[in-house]
Amino acid sequence: MTTGIWILGTQLSLEQAALKSCEDDPENTPVLMIESQAHAAQRRYHQQKLVLVWSAMRHFAIQLQKAGWRVTYEVATDFITPLQNWVQQNQITELRVMTPSDRALKTFIQQLDLGCQISLIPDNHFLWSQITPEFDSGACYERWSTQAFQNWANNRKRILMEDFYRQGRKRFQVLMEENQPVGGKWNFDQDNRKPPPNNLTPPSPPKFSPDNITQAVMEEVQALSCSTYGNVENFQWAVTREQAQQVLNHFIESALPNFGPYQDAMVTGETTLWHSLLSPYLNLGLLTPWEVIVAVEQAYYQNRLPLNSVEGVIRQILGWREFLHGIYHWVDADYGQQNWFNHQQPLPAFFWDSSETDMNCLKQVLQQVEQTGYAHHIQRLMVLSNFALIVGVSPQALKNWFHAAFIDAYDWVMETNVIGMGQFADGGVFASKPYASSANYINKMSDYCQDCCYNPRQRSQEDACPFNFFYWDFIARHRDQLQGLGRMNLVLANLGKIDAEELAQMQALAEAWREKHAQGLEET
Ligand SMILES: Cc1cc2nc3c(=O)[nH]c(=O)nc-3n(C[C@H](O)[C@H](O)[C@H](O)COP(=O)(O)OP(=O)(O)OC[C@H]3O[C@@H](n4cnc5c(N)ncnc54)[C@H](O)[C@@H]3O)c2cc1C
Ligand code: SF4
Repeated sequence: MTTGIWILGTQLSLEQAALKSCEDDPENTPVLMIESQAHAAQRRYHQQKLVLVWSAMRHFAIQLQKAGWRVTYEVATDFITPLQNWVQQNQITELRVMTPSDRALKTFIQQLDLGCQISLIPDNHFLWSQITPEFDSGACYERWSTQAFQNWANNRKRILMEDFYRQGRKRFQVLMEENQPVGGKWNFDQDNRKPPPNNLTPPSPPKFSPDNITQAVMEEVQALSCSTYGNVENFQWAVTREQAQQVLNHFIESALPNFGPYQDAMVTGETTLWHSLLSPYLNLGLLTPWEVIVAVEQAYYQNRLPLNSVEGVIRQILGWREFLHGIYHWVDADYGQQNWFNHQQPLPAFFWDSSETDMNCLKQVLQQVEQTGYAHHIQRLMVLSNFALIVGVSPQALKNWFHAAFIDAYDWVMETNVIGMGQFADGGVFASKPYASSANYINKMSDYCQDCCYNPRQRSQEDACPFNFFYWDFIARHRDQLQGLGRMNLVLANLGKIDAEELAQMQALAEAWREKHAQGLEET
């Protein structure tokens, strides 16, 4: 009887549940890791995403060997061939895999026929995961082992992040004093989300020079025959747990104090501002959400950091990240196919090539994504996703692009953020209205409009900003559906005040633009 463990590329933690379940006998537990080129060819991935995942896997394999595990590392065309060979060679009778977050990969594993038992061990990389007590061997996970997100959601009339977040704060006793929120309030939004002043001086983000392992992966990725996006030239991401911890420490020391006020600001040439850059590492398992939350909370108490910034970060990780992961596993499997507005416009080709758009906000953000695989939340939501929404781009085409282009993208976080939050394609499972806005928001929160050939204050003239005519075109097209949402009443009343001739002009501008961009490039 031999138990073996297959470790997936997003499970790079010595504390992950499958390893934990065999931690008493690492020398006699074969461990397999596979780099599959066929998996990489499924999408036109950003080259830096492939480098990050494969380099982090190779570094983790070395860490595992040092910790005494018997590791086999395969670079292969697919998953199946090396799996079959390894199971046979090691006479594996039970294969253990920590349940992947992504649905398709889970189904793939469940359907494998390897001639041995396959056990999916509940994922312990999320605080509100579905961990069952028998696999909950790590003491640090004990506190949250018994109740799942499902239990919370199933008994509720409304699924609101705010309710979930408060429950999380109480449950895990984060920023709490005698069951009351520290500072007397759950939310410090009125101190945050400020427009950027002219003289901002954000800290430089941490950068890591590629070592020999990373350089080798960079060369291999450049030589891939499948189609990719972006380039490896500026690769500076962390690839080990140690480096990821340095990113966390750097964030706490340099960026956390100002995280709140300029959380939503967008500034030309400033890619990261005071954001944490932690999502790639949290999503790969190099950092755990709990250690980030503890470190941020400790910094509040020890260094007396501003509560609006500290609470702002905790809300993102204990709130949004856990909430959206929970939603992904709570909704039906066809959630990703939903299209409430029936949007069918192809993704404009310039999403794959920033030089092809003359809209400065889109150009700046897309250029940044090409160079780094990263954009911060408001750039993703209020520039890229907002534009696709008001134009009427197919939510699935947009999701595919986000999934390929971003350094931190995985199915669980893509579906909920793009299909749900960004496109409202689920009709409002957890959001009460679509995140749609005109140029006003971008003009207020960024400096992009200052260098743009369009006028953010015009909506129907020749130089009108497309965000403006598309916004009113979107509201008019979906008037009936939006009426049912309640929170759109003010906007709908404003639509009613627009002169019919001007509305027709805006609709004509929108239609002409759509026709011009009808030849989208989906994934090529
Ligand atoms: C359209 C769209 C697409 C997105 N795609 C992804 C994605 O592919 N991968 C991804 O991890 N996040 C995604 N997000 C969520 C969020 O934008 C990123 O997590 C964040 O920008 C990552 O940068 P950061 O680490 O500097 O975040 P910070 O602003 O420093 O926030 C701290 C952490 O909070 C977590 N977080 C905050 N908001 C969310 C959220 N909505 N969902 C999940 N985690 C959140 C992240 O782990 C992040 O690292 C997306 C959001 C939108 C609107
Ligand atoms: S004017 Fe419009 S297109 Fe130009 S940067 Fe501003 S919002 Fe973007």
